[in-house]
Amino acid sequence: MARAYNFAPGPAALPESVLKQAQADMLEWGDAGASIVEMSHRGPEFMEVAARAEADLRTLLAIPDDYAVLFLPGGATTAQALLPLNFADAGATVDYVVTGHWGKTALKQLTPSVQLNVAASGEADGWRTIPARDSWRLTPGAAYVHITANETIHGVEFRPAWGEPAPDTGNVPLFADFSSSIASEPIDISRYGVIYAGAQKNLGPVGISVVIIRRDLLERAGQPRANIFDYRAQLANDSMLNTPPTWNWYLAGLVFRWMLDAGGTAAFDRLSDQKAALLYGAIDGSGGFYRNDVDVAVRSRMNVPFFLADEARNDAFLAGAREAGLIGLKGHRVLGGMRASIYNAMPVDGVRALVDYMQDFQKRNG
Ligand SMILES: *Cc1c(COP(=O)(O)O)cnc(C)c1O
Repeated sequence: MARAYNFAPGPAALPESVLKQAQADMLEWGDAGASIVEMSHRGPEFMEVAARAEADLRTLLAIPDDYAVLFLPGGATTAQALLPLNFADAGATVDYVVTGHWGKTALKQLTPSVQLNVAASGEADGWRTIPARDSWRLTPGAAYVHITANETIHGVEFRPAWGEPAPDTGNVPLFADFSSSIASEPIDISRYGVIYAGAQKNLGPVGISVVIIRRDLLERAGQPRANIFDYRAQLANDSMLNTPPTWNWYLAGLVFRWMLDAGGTAAFDRLSDQKAALLYGAIDGSGGFYRNDVDVAVRSRMNVPFFLADEARNDAFLAGAREAGLIGLKGHRVLGGMRASIYNAMPVDGVRALVDYMQDFQKRNG
């Protein structure tokens, strides 16, 4: 069977060339006599893979030297739990701006050792908007302000039409969950204190995450924590305090290289605009057959939730899509309906195929 266009939200599609390379390296790495998954993380081969991945990510995202980069096992949720431990002293206030499911998940990772202030929330609005910056109730002297750059389930993203993509938080560092939009456009890293992302949306396989930290923040005491959860200790040990997920790290490195070869974040920015315009255009132009409820100014370019006016046709829509070689379109259980995730690895042709299918389905069922 041919590979389908995969719109899954994460784990998500990887570039075919990356999978082919990985397939070859799986059996034997160069002339090492062993697979990349069978080699020591301390050996010269893997050390080279790891260093190359970091160097490529620094180039790809234009990460300044005063930022550290960690590659850590676990997902974005793990990072959500480690942020307060590393960067908020006991009793300190942390400000969270909640714009969907993952912002809410971040709140659940906090312990009573910090004071939570929800500075703004889109919940009362059904997660369709991002509250205007001047309505946020920020705490002077807070340890940090946390946002979710792109809400993967609700399809809400900080976009220029909303205001600044990196909202101004004054002297309080801005921490951002970029799991589902990292590397989709050039961003000014220096506006953030911490950027983190689970890899399985736009950077590679599940099981590893990237944490980018302004180095001076690592001097904060934070709270008592086990050594393995200490970002300073991880940095001092090149993210190898224990055995790192070598295969995932290697695979993410292949994706970084693929993105650089494809023109970097500027190229993916243009492609994301093109793909989002095609898909939202088809939804908005369907005369109500399909619908997306998110405020146009903050519609995500990465995850496009949409609903059929007649929800009784959902199963037929998904079955027909599968036959047309389009998979991963079922919406998240908290929202229902459909969702098309169109990360960097999704070609424009994949979105065209989806739009053609949607129009055809409407003709047959409208
Ligand atoms: C997927 C996702 C998460 C959760 O990631 P895990 O790796 O499953 O912990 C958190 N935040 C955002 C924005 C996500 O898209």
